[in-house]
Amino acid sequence: MKPSAAPFVVALELTLRCPCRCQTCGSHAGAPRARELDHDEWLGVVGSLADLGCRRISLMGGEPLLYPGWVDLVRAGCARDMLVDMISCGQGLDESVASVMRDCGLHSVTISIDGLASTHDAQRRVPGCFEQALRAIRFVDRAGLKVGVTSQVNQGNLAELESLAPILEDAGVLGWQLQLTLPLGRAEENRHLIAPPAMMPEFLRVLRGLARRPGLRPHLTDNIGYGTSDDLQLRTIQGGFPRPWLGCRAGLDALGVTSDGRVKGCLALPDICTEGNVREESLVAMWNDPNRFSYNRRYTPTQLSGACADCEQAQRCRGGCTATAYAMHGRLGVSTHCFLQASAPTDSTTRQT
Ligand code: SF4
Ligand code: SF4
Repeated sequence: MKPSAAPFVVALELTLRCPCRCQTCGSHAGAPRARELDHDEWLGVVGSLADLGCRRISLMGGEPLLYPGWVDLVRAGCARDMLVDMISCGQGLDESVASVMRDCGLHSVTISIDGLASTHDAQRRVPGCFEQALRAIRFVDRAGLKVGVTSQVNQGNLAELESLAPILEDAGVLGWQLQLTLPLGRAEENRHLIAPPAMMPEFLRVLRGLARRPGLRPHLTDNIGYGTSDDLQLRTIQGGFPRPWLGCRAGLDALGVTSDGRVKGCLALPDICTEGNVREESLVAMWNDPNRFSYNRRYTPTQLSGACADCEQAQRCRGGCTATAYAMHGRLGVSTHCFLQASAPTDSTTRQT
């Protein structure tokens, strides 16, 4: 597959430091990584991305607010005509931080909320975390910035999504994205929370109900969905342009940089998908090297297995999310959580891996 001239959106893991110790954290966040990038190095990353023509960066962690130079990085991105977003757990985000976010040019803020109060606090292992997240949403909203929520979906919270919707709506949330909890990082130690394939029909039923809400409704991110006739409707951001699923975009128009400088097509991918380190090589050279990101740039149908190998939608879908396939099955090109299979259990596409 041919990559874009520049990555469309780049995730920057500013630090692995985090005030939470989430059971579902895919990167074991808490303490910083050894030898995290310093401020000049991050400014270099932002500059290289701007040189490439990247137009959007997303600051995340760990907790990006614990990276002391985040305001400066937002300004540096804006000065090079990039949209800068942030994903935060909301801890420490008060009225004054929200004002700084607005004044430095941040485009939008997404707060993580993974269920109703008791479930969220338990999964995040921080008492009061849910109430603080709601306060943070209100502060950001009142500061005049767009505010969204991202929710991980797992066995511990699927039943709460319908009750969560009006709470988020009342707090001022404009967009609500859902992603499956993957067995990565600390979540690998909490496998009882990981949704099994058998949960997907119920998940799809809940989503279709929420899609009929008159107010806030969720949209799917890359590691959920595929193949159903309403996938486009379920995936499109509320009020946004249609977002068809076109297969994994890692290394095609998506990119991520870890807090110790490693470059991957997507931060959720395993370490075997590391393409290099910004300390050793230019980010521009890595992106422009046709031999990098080979799992997508040199994709062939032989990478598919299980139900995906026989699926009539495989040419476009390419087996769903690469990171999910690696996390669930240790290889790419296979999905057992696909909604096409969930909605047609007797179809030939349900062959087991
Ligand atoms: S079976 Fe595989 S290729 Fe087909 S829609 Fe589902 S995830 Fe995509
Ligand atoms: S690995 Fe998954 S989350 Fe990452 S870009 Fe590919 S589809 Fe999206």
